[in-house]
Amino acid sequence: LARRVLNRPRSLASPSSWAASARTVTACDVIVVGGGHAGTEAAAAATRVGAETLLVTQKIQTIGALSCNPSLGGVGKGQLVREVDALDGLMGRAGDWAGVHFSILNRSKGPAVWGPRAQLDRPRYRQFIQAELLSMPRLTVVEGSVEELLVSEPDPEKPGKHRVTGVRMADTGRIILARSVVLTTGTFLSGSLFMGQTTSPGGRMGDPPSGSGLSRSLKEVLGLRLGRLRTGTPPRIFKRSVDLSLAQLQLPDQRPTPFSFISNGTHCKPEEQLPCYLINTTPGVERVVRESLHLNSHIQQDTRGPRYCPSIESRVLRFPGRQHQVWLEPEGLTSDLLYPQGLSMTMPPDLQVRLLREIPALRKAEIQAPGYGVQYDFVCPTQLFPSLEVRSAQGLFLAGQINGTTGYEEAAAQGVWAGVSAGRRALSLPPLSLSRTQSYIGVLIDDLVGRGITEPYRMFTSRAEFRTSLRPDNADLRLTLKGYCDIGCVSPRRYEEAVRMKAGLSEALSALQDITLSPTRWREKLPQAAVSANKSGIMSAEEVLQYKDVSFEMLASAFPDVLGPYVEFAERLKIEAMYRPHCEKQRREIERILQEESLSLPQDVDYLSLPVSLSQEVRELLDRVRPATLGAASRLPGMTPAAILHLLNYITRTP
Ligand code: FAD
Repeated sequence: LARRVLNRPRSLASPSSWAASARTVTACDVIVVGGGHAGTEAAAAATRVGAETLLVTQKIQTIGALSCNPSLGGVGKGQLVREVDALDGLMGRAGDWAGVHFSILNRSKGPAVWGPRAQLDRPRYRQFIQAELLSMPRLTVVEGSVEELLVSEPDPEKPGKHRVTGVRMADTGRIILARSVVLTTGTFLSGSLFMGQTTSPGGRMGDPPSGSGLSRSLKEVLGLRLGRLRTGTPPRIFKRSVDLSLAQLQLPDQRPTPFSFISNGTHCKPEEQLPCYLINTTPGVERVVRESLHLNSHIQQDTRGPRYCPSIESRVLRFPGRQHQVWLEPEGLTSDLLYPQGLSMTMPPDLQVRLLREIPALRKAEIQAPGYGVQYDFVCPTQLFPSLEVRSAQGLFLAGQINGTTGYEEAAAQGVWAGVSAGRRALSLPPLSLSRTQSYIGVLIDDLVGRGITEPYRMFTSRAEFRTSLRPDNADLRLTLKGYCDIGCVSPRRYEEAVRMKAGLSEALSALQDITLSPTRWREKLPQAAVSANKSGIMSAEEVLQYKDVSFEMLASAFPDVLGPYVEFAERLKIEAMYRPHCEKQRREIERILQEESLSLPQDVDYLSLPVSLSQEVRELLDRVRPATLGAASRLPGMTPAAILHLLNYITRTP
């Protein structure tokens, strides 16, 4: 590993040769700035598409660090992890290696919106990501801070369009040239840390911010619009100081479900998994928050924080008089720390202890590190193409928290795509995009570049109109095959596994369709599922499998010769059968939209009062732009396929 950890690029042996030798310098196709969740995936993806890549990050030891919560996935976020994995990213396998508590959230709902989630062992996660990156061909890791972007003069033929040619390092002033640069500075861009009334420069506790030079490059040289966001983290508590008998035990799933399509199970054995604990706040917590507001600079600032991961101060102020849930989550197999999810706070440390001790289970709580807040610059993402390249700066790509998102999964998802795009740009390959009908990554990017953000963006299943097709179970079929054949970012091994899976599922579904029987015969063969079998006349086995109380295993034991060979696909077949009719309908709707591209839209229509289900945002957009055709409407930034479908239905219905 040491061979790959250099404080300067291997191929660029001395500073003078960098400046002098254009040949050596151009050997670096892509520079990725930042080794967080976006940067690590971007660097890995760029190398997978074949680009010579350099990852420059402030500290090698913090590559893959989990700045805040020790967990991965969840509803919407778990779908992103699955998709990053399907494109051969690192996050899913790292989660399987480092997970200490696996569960599928939302099990009471349909499998399309299940949320694979895991608590992680922090050091193990970091170690996995570092080991993977440091052994990757075509990737060199450099420790240091980038201070400035190198930008060529705008092309007189394309006014306002710059080209990014490389970066300048902060410490030595060294210059590194590349065809593409990916910026993934996370919470570090002009970052400030807040605790009580103290403010200090920083990107995360213990780490300096990204210098002001980088913000200046973006703002003053490239003319980009920047905004400011904030987030915060809770104090870490010594487990030995917590009275867990006063907390509600939350056990993991007995059979852990891995994130990765190619993991052979999870590293942590089912019986070795660690529990979480649930506690509630008390009126005393609210009292301490209110009494300390004047000592809490972060909360007084007029910047937007993450609405769905709010601080305890925001929760208490928004919902006074309520109890709030707090999850005590393990930090790792050998760690004596608990992470109190829901108690992010920025008041002075002595008051943090006072607040914690207002909760019965935490009456004697001791903290290892106090909570704090961070504010940072982000780039308004409507200034990007769907490839995540900056519209006004060829060769510059942005991914992760710098685009106004929050969360490791959102960062990693953009990282993969920015890495693919930057690698392809450097290798003179045409840009690609992922549509929102194909993936959550497509939804995420479309939302960012089409609509922009007003608060830190996080993924939810409700953001995806086609969520019944974009399920966590089928991310490999949606993305791995495309990732290998069209994008070139997937290894042959993973591709072969996806091909095997696709063939197995398709054969098994044909076999299910070929079995057709009358209700009487069903009752004989499947006494456990007699209720379902009573419902209609002759049905195929695939139709019977759509019923809630019928499993593939039941069918396989009734027809062992035909279905027995496919038992390994049982869970996926059940889900596939459940959703097939609905997904087929959706597919036809998408095809219909594509066919009706040239359909004219009436120019006198009053979009603001049209009696169809359109959001106010979409109505105003249509009213402002008044597109001539359905195709033109569908290409408006911020337009969704669902809105287009409603529009299409309305126009074709109206005489
Ligand atoms: P990061 O993980 O922040 O990584 C950025 C990387 O870039 C770092 O390795 C840094 O060293 C490097 N870097 C920065 N500038 C330079 C430079 N100029 N040169 C070289 N290297 C550079 N997320 C949530 O979902 N919920 C939360 O409640 C939440 N709370 C948070 C609280 C705090 C205090 C912090 C710090 C983060 C919090 N996060 C939270 C955010 C979460 O950490 C990020 O969403 C995620 O890590 C973003 O990944 P990223 O890759 O974009 O950036």
